[in-house]
Amino acid sequence: MQLIPCPWCGPREETEFHYGGQAHVEHPADPHALDDEQWAQYVFFRDNPKGPFAERWAHTAGCRRWFNAVRDTVSYEFLTVYPVGPPNPLGTGTRERQEATA
Ligand SMILES: [Zn+2]
Repeated sequence: MQLIPCPWCGPREETEFHYGGQAHVEHPADPHALDDEQWAQYVFFRDNPKGPFAERWAHTAGCRRWFNAVRDTVSYEFLTVYPVGPPNPLGTGTRERQEATA
């Protein structure tokens, strides 16, 4: 059993948490300008890196708050946790770069 460090409650058992997918996936600035392919990219496609990955987590059996975490997808180790809002500590994500150059 792994301990996950909630930013507000401290380390708790992983069974208290719910995974929320990739963090820092920005909502389209102009949703009406997107075609079906672009909507599919926004809704369904996520990065799948080997190594550090910014994710959303919820402490559902504790404070019930959402937070972000950087987790190593190889070792499952949580490298850092932080509240929702601050920028991605890994820098601009792949998806954000794709949208910026599209
Ligand atoms: Zn908590």
